[in-house]
Amino acid sequence: METSTPIPVTRVAKSRLTGQDFGDIVFGANPTDHMFTATYRQGAWQDPRIVPFGNLTLSPIALCLHYGQTVFEGLKAYRMVDGNINIFRIHRHQTRMNQSLQRMAMPRVPQPLFINAVHQLVALEQSWVPAKPGTSLYIRPLVIATEPRLGVKVSDEYQFIIVAMPMASYYTKNLKVKVETVFSRAAEGGTGAAKCAGNYGAAFYPTKTANDQGFDQVLWTDAKYHEFIAESGTMNVFFVIDGALVTPPLGGSILDGVTRDTLLTLAKASGIDVEERQISYKTLEEAFRSGESDQAFGGGTAAMVSPIEMVELGDHTYLINITPGALMYRLNHELQAIHTGAKKDPYNW
Ligand SMILES: *Cc1c(COP(=O)(O)O)cnc(C)c1O
Repeated sequence: METSTPIPVTRVAKSRLTGQDFGDIVFGANPTDHMFTATYRQGAWQDPRIVPFGNLTLSPIALCLHYGQTVFEGLKAYRMVDGNINIFRIHRHQTRMNQSLQRMAMPRVPQPLFINAVHQLVALEQSWVPAKPGTSLYIRPLVIATEPRLGVKVSDEYQFIIVAMPMASYYTKNLKVKVETVFSRAAEGGTGAAKCAGNYGAAFYPTKTANDQGFDQVLWTDAKYHEFIAESGTMNVFFVIDGALVTPPLGGSILDGVTRDTLLTLAKASGIDVEERQISYKTLEEAFRSGESDQAFGGGTAAMVSPIEMVELGDHTYLINITPGALMYRLNHELQAIHTGAKKDPYNW
């Protein structure tokens, strides 16, 4: 398929769009009118189409329901100041989805198919892209194994689906997090770098336990020693230590976040010291105790920049007093300015 090949569209009879600006919409609960779907059979993606949003037809023995061959992506379309729509870093998301698919032994989605599908779906749903600051259209591509066969095997059939939904901010308050040293999200050699559903399934119990203790999220540590900070639930994690922006290095068990890359690039360009290095439990304890670290935040497409105001390390709780001009706010501001075209994007994102 060429990037511009028209995809057949079956339109809804009546749009559910009501004209509100989605400023206070609940995340994930309001899909747009249409969705994209394509199927993989006999070694090829086929039958791409855009249809009214609706339920899937799936056999109860479809492989995705049993053995977890399920991969997704999350990207956003922003309303720009000139009224146009910016689908942010679509190529990087496309590449990452193929890396996730490869790890899960699923067929890659060719770049033109992915790009074309996202573009045409967003074009059709353009009225759903909100304009209020901080809002966006969240786009969720998804590939699932659909072959109806209960054997433990790699599926021969798949469905590629894209849905979209308008959203406001994901977290509306500063986060309280707990450094997790019992459970693990991902081990070396595992699937931590893939955006696969199973990673989330395994993270829910420890996260829920932390929620019950009053935390919003956990900060995962490495699976072997529980000593090095990895990332948070749906976000990569950053600290400002001695004026430098510090984040754990990618090593196979951390998700290679697009937002992570964007924030590091923006920080470097504005002359800030950027360090991708191991951050041990001890280092962090020291940095908080001495006051060398005065900022901690999560970064991800859904949540953007999410300030962390409290970190629990063992039996000690550190409160972070974030000042109004803090680096994370400046980065967030710059990120939003690039999303909306208020600031020129020299990177072609
Ligand atoms: C998606 C995701 C992130 C953030 O990645 P972005 O590309 O910035 O959205 C971080 N961690 C995990 C586990 C994720 O699934």
